[in-house]
Amino acid sequence: MTTENSRFHPDVQQRVRSLFCSHCGGSFEGRQYHKQPNGYGMEGCCADIVQPSTDDMDAYGIEGVHYNLDPLARVHSLQMPGAMETWRISPYVTDRRGVITRWPAEEHVPLHLLNIHDLHDRLKAQMVGDITRIARKDGVWGVLFEIEFHSRESEQFTEPQDVLQGLDTDDQVIPRLVAAAGALGVQFPGVHFAVPEVIYVETMRPAIWAFVPDGLHFPAQHEALTLALQQLKP
Ligand SMILES: [Zn+2]
Repeated sequence: MTTENSRFHPDVQQRVRSLFCSHCGGSFEGRQYHKQPNGYGMEGCCADIVQPSTDDMDAYGIEGVHYNLDPLARVHSLQMPGAMETWRISPYVTDRRGVITRWPAEEHVPLHLLNIHDLHDRLKAQMVGDITRIARKDGVWGVLFEIEFHSRESEQFTEPQDVLQGLDTDDQVIPRLVAAAGALGVQFPGVHFAVPEVIYVETMRPAIWAFVPDGLHFPAQHEALTLALQQLKP
């Protein structure tokens, strides 16, 4: 099931560049929108000012695609093992119960959007156990699965030496996770898999991310995905 909400805007393929705000003239990072003059766009903070006085926000582009972009996270490339690439994602909009967290990285995410059209409730209904959070990737809302794995580095302050010796290092675990994530991508079309740098994981553990856009899945597919992620043994 692919709904309007689960589709990524084609402009997310366009490069992010420095633009001038057509409201205040300030410069900001965004993507060119075809209805705006070349080099101009709508800055996130000005969108909040302009919005109440216009019926046509479409003239300015799309939140999260052309302005108010999601922050960058470095992830291990699934296509080119050993290389890094970037995702634009706000991974911590809520905690694992769906409660808005307001992590510093998410400060700019317009959380009021979650209150429109019951989005927050709808996304909460798509969360699974304690392995998901509400997130936004390239302007698309969805549910981010995060499954963590132990490594010698991640457990160094909590486990005794003999236990640590039995654990693999990040350098051993992460390439195996990358391979597993690549295979899952084939099995679950429309789901975006990544292995983030450990600094993006609260516990600093190696982890796999699976971003499921709003409305992509039926509950049965969610169950299959959960099972597949939990069965990974990197
Ligand atoms: Zn502005």
